[in-house]
Amino acid sequence: MKVFINPGHMPGIDSGAVNGHLLLRECDIVLSLGRLLASKLESAGCTVMLLQSDNLCGEAPAFPNVCHAANNWPADIFISMHCNAYNTTVRGTEILCRKEKSQAGILAQHIRQQLSKTLHGIDSDIPDRGIKERLDLIVLNHTVMPAILIEVAFIDNDADARILVEKQNSLASAIARGITDYWCHLN
Ligand SMILES: [Zn+2]
Repeated sequence: MKVFINPGHMPGIDSGAVNGHLLLRECDIVLSLGRLLASKLESAGCTVMLLQSDNLCGEAPAFPNVCHAANNWPADIFISMHCNAYNTTVRGTEILCRKEKSQAGILAQHIRQQLSKTLHGIDSDIPDRGIKERLDLIVLNHTVMPAILIEVAFIDNDADARILVEKQNSLASAIARGITDYWCHLN
């Protein structure tokens, strides 16, 4: 299976969301999480391409185009990784896809199952916010393979942010297991 990993945002260009008091940037957390995920998937026999770029689909031509790279490779599945942010008190994990009743929706379910189980084991108070349909996201609209976007947890909430920093290995393993579960279900 060829897995395209797109850590969101881009250090030096767009930090994404931040936690000002723990001094954390979304762009750094998702890059390190994406690299861990890549190595776990490679150990499981997948081929991985990882690209973090401010150019999602042509809007910043100075940087490599994320959707074109995934489509031209071509990837079997597309995983964008982000951290959520809202009002510092909201917590939890969620996965976005265009349509729940689709291959992307099935992929999202497999990852959700593993990720929410792992998060619950780390902190039973962290909510599973489920799978949400979004029709307005460039990376989901311009990729041709099943594509999802994982909002792993809320970076602006200190309890979630600590998990995002301290439990990266468990989080990456859970996402990798969800991806290989999806692949087994197909084959
Ligand atoms: Zn983001």
